[in-house]
Order: sequence, then structure tokens, then C-alpha cells
Amino acid sequence: MDNSNSNSSAPAALSPYADNLLIQNNLSRSKDRFKPLNSPYVGLYVCGPTVYSNVHLGNVRTFLTFDVIYRYLCQLGYNVRYVRNITDVGHLVGDADEGEDKIGKMARLQNLEPMEIVQRYTNDFHDVMRMFNILPPSIEPTATGHIIEQIEMIEAIMKNGFAYQAGGSVYFDVRKYAEQHDYGTLSGRKIDDLRSATRDLDGQSDKRDPLDFALWKEANETHLMRWPSPWSIGFPGWHLECSVMSTKYLGKSFDIHGGGMDLKFPHHECEIAQNVGAYGDETPPVGYWVHGNMLTVNGRKMSKSEGNGFTPDELISGNHKLLERGYSPMTVRFFMLQGHYAGTLDFSNAALQAAEKGLTRLMAAWSAIEGLAAIDVATATAAPGVAAAGEIDVESLRNRCYAAMNDDFNTPILIATLYDGVKWINSAKDGRLAITVEQKSGLADLFNTFAKDVMGLSFEDGSTGADDDRTDGLMALICDMRASAKSDKNWAMADEIRDQLAAIGVQIKDGKDGATWTFD
Ligand code: AMP
Ligand code: ZN
Repeated sequence: MDNSNSNSSAPAALSPYADNLLIQNNLSRSKDRFKPLNSPYVGLYVCGPTVYSNVHLGNVRTFLTFDVIYRYLCQLGYNVRYVRNITDVGHLVGDADEGEDKIGKMARLQNLEPMEIVQRYTNDFHDVMRMFNILPPSIEPTATGHIIEQIEMIEAIMKNGFAYQAGGSVYFDVRKYAEQHDYGTLSGRKIDDLRSATRDLDGQSDKRDPLDFALWKEANETHLMRWPSPWSIGFPGWHLECSVMSTKYLGKSFDIHGGGMDLKFPHHECEIAQNVGAYGDETPPVGYWVHGNMLTVNGRKMSKSEGNGFTPDELISGNHKLLERGYSPMTVRFFMLQGHYAGTLDFSNAALQAAEKGLTRLMAAWSAIEGLAAIDVATATAAPGVAAAGEIDVESLRNRCYAAMNDDFNTPILIATLYDGVKWINSAKDGRLAITVEQKSGLADLFNTFAKDVMGLSFEDGSTGADDDRTDGLMALICDMRASAKSDKNWAMADEIRDQLAAIGVQIKDGKDGATWTFD
């Protein structure tokens, strides 16, 4: 997949497999056939990180989930505009409406500007995304870059009667909204149950009802992040930014909204209420709500506050009490893809070690494809003891791979299906199964599509199997040329080749059976 084209403005040719994609839609609570509002264009919004600390492996799981969904939609030929925001203001400690801003607090603790905190952890987030081969989105907007739009949305909600000013703050009026709309439509929560489970206002808050949530908060003197607004010098509520940035870039109704399962309530429920409160409900704001499930450790959600989260750097070095040793990013990527995104996934050293073995087997087979000795289909007669090429059915394997991904992005089934290909490749490599030129190129294409483009697996040195084989071929050619220079007694040329290769980190060693080479 050439991802540079995936979000260009030219309509892509849709794959026939695109007709059968089913997505678990948490709004309808059923697996729905995917029908974009404006095919072949697809709008995808995913809640991004709050950039106040290093990303932990749990966060990586959520972004990986949506990376694979994005990759697969592109693979089907959709023209995807993928918006993933950066939360750099408004997310308060405790995830509700009181307390310090997470970023502001960190800035105070480290004696830095809030924007220094934002930049530091945004850079870290990008490094981690690259490390795990997670593609960048088409647009990565920030909450602080959209204060004016947030103020405008508050004004629209107020004009429609679903928000009120109290002091210098503005709150969403959940009770008023619920008179006309269904608050709880996504999470299935009932407003009466919510109310009985919520503590009464303690006199500290100027809300009318404990269920109301902040759209704008007046900043006290110590609050670092502050902007002027019609109501006060203050800052926007956390839920508002996603309503604003998703609709600004994808329209008032768009196709897919994603995020971690923990954001379903209240964050996503509040987003729906804000969108409907501002723009009405003639069309639902979002067609498909998709939630990635949590990475857990001994059954508990991995999180900063639980103290059971480790960073990708710790994972690679193995330098953490939960880790028996270090693991590579691709091992972790593969480990995560071995579970379906909608189920919880429990971290363990045993599971990572099994994933490492499984990945090695898959990658070894993939890189062996190019070197397989294929037979010409017209003259194909299998030798004694060799199974006929007819055993290999690449077309049916391809159909099964698409069927797995079309069934709500089922990567564990996809991996199991690719292993059928691995078996054929290994048998052909060992001379137990004949393989035709067409089958060989079909398998190479299949692995390129599903292992590389869809699952985003890459060889740890950044190459692909095909690249490794190409390097082997090129080096064999260079070594042959140097051998013939030597047999012509052209010592200067032979030395020149050796020295030039050494200068770029390739060491040639002459032995009695010819030259061998290694990278520095
Ligand atoms: P945050 O930076 O806390 O706003 O989280 C960024 C994203 O990571 C959100 O979509 C969260 O749902 C997700 N997330 C946080 N913890 C985990 C976890 N243990 N497993 C999977 N996703 C998580
Ligand atoms: Zn969000």
C-alpha cells in the first residue's frame, strides 16, 4: 500500500471486498455492514493522547487498533481522512470537571511552560508511534489550536438552550437535553440510574445538576492555561475539543469515531450530546462508534495511576519489574494483533515470548518466498515424494484473509489464516511441495498485502523480506564481479570494491570457498 496516496483527493478504486465489511458498532450494539456516508471517502476520528507524560503500552494498544483499521480501510480502496487529535488542554486530573489540568500540573511540578510539557510528550508520542510502525493520521489537530471554534460551539449549544452560564463557567444542561434527546444512547446508561449513582453537589460547584458537565471553566489565579472568552478568562471542557475537531475536519456527520473503551462514558456520550446540542439530530453525528479494549496486567487496566504501566523504552530494554527481559516493538505489535481489538488483552512475559516465536516463523516464511524454486505450470509434474502444486490455493487463502478482516477486523483469524500460507512455503522450501511461478508471486503479494500493509509488520532492521533477498542478490553480484577482477589480476579494482564497501559498513572477508560479507 502506498500510504501517501491513501488520503489524497483522487477517488480510489474500491475493492470488491469492501462490500462485505462488518464493524461492531457500539451505537447500534450490533455488527453492521459498513456503508460510508460518501463512499469512497471515509471520515475516521480517534481520540488522541493527553500529552502530559510518556505514553505507556496500554495507550499503544488503542492507537495500534485504529492503525490497523485505518490501514485496512485504505487497503479496501477507501479514501480515508484520518483525524487523531492531541489533547493539550482541558483534561483535568480525575477526568472530571474539578481539579488541576493534567498538563498544567506537570508544568508546575517541573517548573516548565505548559507548552514545553506538550511539546516534550508530543515528541515522545510520535517517536513511539514510529517505533511501532503506526502510521501518522491525515490531520493531527490540537485542542489549544481550536479555542475559537470551541467558543463558537458553546455559543451554538447555548443558543439552542442546552447550556447555561454559572459565574464565569458554562455547563451542558443534561436534564434539559434529556427532555428532548436520549442522553445515554451510546453507553446504554439511564439518566435516573446515573443521577442516583452521582454524589450531590457539595456546594463547591456552580452546576445546577451533578450530571452537567463543563463546556467552559473559569480559571482561578493559579490555573496556568487560560484564554479570553465571552464568559471569563478560562479554558474549555475536555469533551468539547473532540466534538469541535471531528466535525471541523470531517463534517457534522461522519463515518467512524474511535477511542479506548474507557472513553465510551462519559467522554463519548458527552460528545454526542454536544454535537446534537449544537447541530440537531437530523442525522446521527457518527455512523459507527468503535472502541478498542484495554491492555491489562493481571486483569487490571494498565495505567499511569495504577503504577503498572511501562514505557516502550522499558519494554525494549527489559528494565522494569514486570519484564523478564526486553522485547522488540514488532514482537509487541504481533502480540497485540494476536488478540481481537474488542477483547481485553492481558500482558504476560509468556505471551510475549510465544508471540516472538510466532512472529519469527511468519517472517522467516515470508522472506523465504522469493528464494523458492518454482516450476513452470505448463510442465508441472511433481517429482516422486513431492506433493503437487495443486495443494496450494492462493485465491482461497486470499478470500479467507479478507473474510477475517471483514469480520470486524479479526486479526487473530487473519494471522491463523496466514499460517496456512507459512506451511506451504516451508514445505516448498524443503522440497516437499511443488510451487508454480504464479503461486509464488501470489503468496508474495498476499504477504505484502496482509503482513506488511494491513498488519504493519516489518523486519526489525526496517527491511522487508523482499529487500533482504534483494540485498543478498546484489551482494552476490558484487562478490562475483570482485572475484572476476581478481582472476584478471586486477588487484586495484578488487581492493577498490572492498574498500568502498567497507566505507559504507559492509565487510568483505576472503575465504577458501570465496568471499563472504557482513554488515558492521
Ligand atoms: P489518555 O492519554 O489517557 O487520554 O489515553 C489515550 C488513549 O489511550 C485513550 O484512547 C485511552 O482509552 C487509551 N488507553 C489508556 N489506557 C489504556 C489501556 N490500558 N489499554 C488500552 N488503551 C488504553
Ligand atoms: Zn476525545
